[in-house]
Amino acid sequence: MTYILSAILVMSGFMAGAQLAYSKLYDWRIAEGDGSRLKDRYRNASMNGTIAVALYLVTIVMFGELLIDWDAASTWYKPILVLLLYDFGYYWLHRLLHVRKVMQKVHWVHHMNLHPTAVDSLYLHPVEMIAGLAFLLISIVIVGPLGIGAFLAVVLLHTIINILHHTNLQLPYRLAWFANHWAASHDAHHSQGGNYGVITPLWDWIFRTRS
Ligand SMILES: [Zn+2]
Ligand SMILES: [Zn+2]
Repeated sequence: MTYILSAILVMSGFMAGAQLAYSKLYDWRIAEGDGSRLKDRYRNASMNGTIAVALYLVTIVMFGELLIDWDAASTWYKPILVLLLYDFGYYWLHRLLHVRKVMQKVHWVHHMNLHPTAVDSLYLHPVEMIAGLAFLLISIVIVGPLGIGAFLAVVLLHTIINILHHTNLQLPYRLAWFANHWAASHDAHHSQGGNYGVITPLWDWIFRTRS
């Protein structure tokens, strides 16, 4: 439980830091944000954050042995396999979310912001929130239970990458090229479409959906 609470604190701290950077480092923004309904965004993000924590806790209590091997040391390749499998699954889930009827009922909430900010990584219809996390948890079950360190690393990386996708920042540091790539690529998704992948651009390249 201590591990999980620490992970929640790290994720919330990262989100708050990114959101603070967005408002303070104005010159590094990719584009003018939509700026409106900030209260709605925080309210929706708090709801989805609560759903995410509850879903993780309930799933761990109910199906813990399928997700976490408390006795095993973390193997280095299993978390990578999980993230790659999730990347493939999420690419197709995201394509499905863009089918007109699903967009009109579910994904439109997330796409209300043409130039998202960090908090918009959680600005979602709850169905999308649950579906995305379910894909991550199913990917773990398919690969096999992870050591607790690897499990938390996957959860943290998944959250941090999602936040980086929405920061709307281009940081002037060479080391930040990964974060800059994710932010620019996903900002283009919100404003022009394409770029459905979340971790790697691989599936967008293969299926010619890069924008
Ligand atoms: Zn989308
Ligand atoms: Zn987005």
